This record gives sequence, C-alpha cells and structure tokens, in this order.
Amino acid sequence: MKRQLAALLLTIFALSLTACGETAAESETRTVYAMDTVMNLTVYGENAAAALESAEKELHTLDEAVLSRTAEGSELYALNTSNGETVEYGADDILPALIETALTISDATDGAFDPTLAPVLDAWGFTKDEHRVPSADELKELLSHTGCGKVALEKTAVTLLDGAQLDLGGIAKGYAADLLRAQLEKEGVTSATLDLGGDVFVMGRKTDGGDWRIAVKDPADTESYLGVVSAADKFIVTSGVYERYFEENGVRYHHILDPKTGCPAESGLVSVTVLCENGAWADALSTACFVLGPDGALALRDDLADQGADFELILVTDDGRVLYTDGLTDAFTPNDESGYTYEALA
Ligand code: ADP
Ligand code: MG
Repeated sequence: MKRQLAALLLTIFALSLTACGETAAESETRTVYAMDTVMNLTVYGENAAAALESAEKELHTLDEAVLSRTAEGSELYALNTSNGETVEYGADDILPALIETALTISDATDGAFDPTLAPVLDAWGFTKDEHRVPSADELKELLSHTGCGKVALEKTAVTLLDGAQLDLGGIAKGYAADLLRAQLEKEGVTSATLDLGGDVFVMGRKTDGGDWRIAVKDPADTESYLGVVSAADKFIVTSGVYERYFEENGVRYHHILDPKTGCPAESGLVSVTVLCENGAWADALSTACFVLGPDGALALRDDLADQGADFELILVTDDGRVLYTDGLTDAFTPNDESGYTYEALA
C-alpha cells in the first residue's frame, strides 16, 4: 500500500485567526516526500519560508544520505553491507546516536521494539513493496540473525555481528522530528506543526495562544476520526495495521512484526497512539506498544513512568474499544459518532 495514505492519518486542525476580517497569522506550508511518506510541514512567524527550506533539505539528507535501507549511497546501507567489519563514525554523526537510542528503547521494551528485523522485513517484502509470505523454516533461520545482542556499539563505532542488519523504520521519522525541532528552535521558530506521515510534532502553541487540536484517525475508516487531542509542544505518533499491509488468500499481513515470531504482531490492537515529549521515543514506543498489546503496553507505561519517562496512550482494540490513559482525561475528546466504546483508564 502506498504511503500517501499515511499522510492522512492524523489531521492537524490548525484553526487560524481568520474570523471576521482579522488577518491570518503569517505561516507557510510545504509538502515534502521523504522517508517513503508524504510529510506536511507548517511553520508560523517571519522566518517561516527560510525555516521550511532548511527543514526540507534536512529531511532529504537524512533520508538519502543516512537512514534509507534501499539507497545505495546511505550510511545505513553501507553499515548493513559491512560484513561484520567495524564502522567508525564522527562524534557528531547522527547514525550512531540513533542506533544508541534504538538499542536503549529495545532494552526498555524487552525487545518488543527491535531494530534488527531488517532481514525478516525483507523476506516479507515490506522493504521494496514486493510482498510474499515466508515459510516457517525461513523465518526461523532469519530470526537467528536478529536481536540487539548482535549490535556492538562502542562510543561511535558500530559492528554488526552474525549477519545482523538494521531497519530503523520504526524510529527514523520520530528521530527526524526531534532533529527538525532542534533546527527550528535554533532559527527562532516558536510555533509549527510537523506531520511526518503519522508522526506529528506540534511545536509551541497556536499563534492565538491556544493548544493545537489533533484528530486521531479511525483505523477502520481513515476518512473518520476517533477523537481529538489537545496538545502543545508534544509528539503524537500513531502505529496501525491500516498503514502498510498486503493480502494473500484472504489473510491480511501488516508491517509491524513480533520479534519473537517474525510474523505480523497479533496483540489484540489495531492502532496505538503515543503522546510524549520526545519524537524518537514516541515513534519507537508506538511500534513496541503495538507488539505488546493492551496489557503489555499499559504495564510498560507504568514501568517507564517509574523511571521518569512519561507517555500517554490511545489504544484501539480489535473488538472496537478505545482505551486512553489518565493523562488524557481532559485532553482527549472522543468522537461519539465513531461507533467505538471509549474507556478512560484510571
Ligand atoms: P510507520 O513507520 O508506518 O509509521 P511504525 O512506526 O510502527 O509505523 O514503524 C513500522 C516500521 O518499523 C516497519 O515498516 C518496519 O520498518 C519497522 N518495524 C516493524 N516491526 C518492528 C518492531 N517490532 N520493532 C522495530 N521496528 C519494527
Ligand atoms: Mg514507530
């Protein structure tokens, strides 16, 4: 399935100040195609045009020169074809820093987020959109090359052992959003919305001082929505089975794999939205929580809260329930016409 749909997953209601003859706040919007998805960036304020220009450049560089699995010139491509040789990076290079974050989150999620699934994703054909269902034997062999134990990171030197290869598709867009945020802050921007194909960052507040309102799409009908979240300075990231999948013999196979089985995760969830202060974490946690299922996701949230890493969740179960965590009691407004049952968790 094409990623264009992903751009529709979350809609930002950027209600502008155009009521009754008032002038709209100065803003510029740009649509960028990068990281295999459609991105919509809006920046408010005087520097908007220049800030968007450098944001777009940064996204293309990140994609083509660093993180792409398939572009032969990318740093990730070179690392994945390094045949067990150690690759040294510079102190300010992005790739080793991102790998370190990915390993930390993999550890924190007990391996539910696993950045070493590259060969398994390839076997399912998700990397190049040439889909097929691998045999159980094939998956078993491939899984013997996965796991973060096969990634050795020494400061900025990375060695992939035992035929391991990295796929950072579950964290790259969130990490990119973190980098864009830092860049925008440096340029003096205080108000912006970045939608990197389902990974949304709302920077600061709307120019009228209010919160942003973000519609969370209904996974069963992307024309409809589950509800609206009010937020400021937050990352809102959704992982769902409706984003990328194929069907064979009447069975639907989606792109979020359970690292234990190598098969599409069947956890009782159809969609997970994470809200938190950090883009890379929001992105990777949405993938991990999808794999863990409702009970595992809520237990992980408690665990990480104990360690000072707070995040909120909107979980959609395969039996039509929407569960949302206590930090969203005031911030999430359910759409009563959606047909779902809503449960605010205490
Ligand atoms: P999307 O990128 O479509 O917004 P996700 O953030 O959930 O959705 O990332 C899914 C991508 O992450 C897959 O396309 C694949 O590249 C990678 N992936 C799949 N399963 C896992 C997993 N268990 N852990 C880490 N990455 C995964
Ligand atoms: Mg993710």
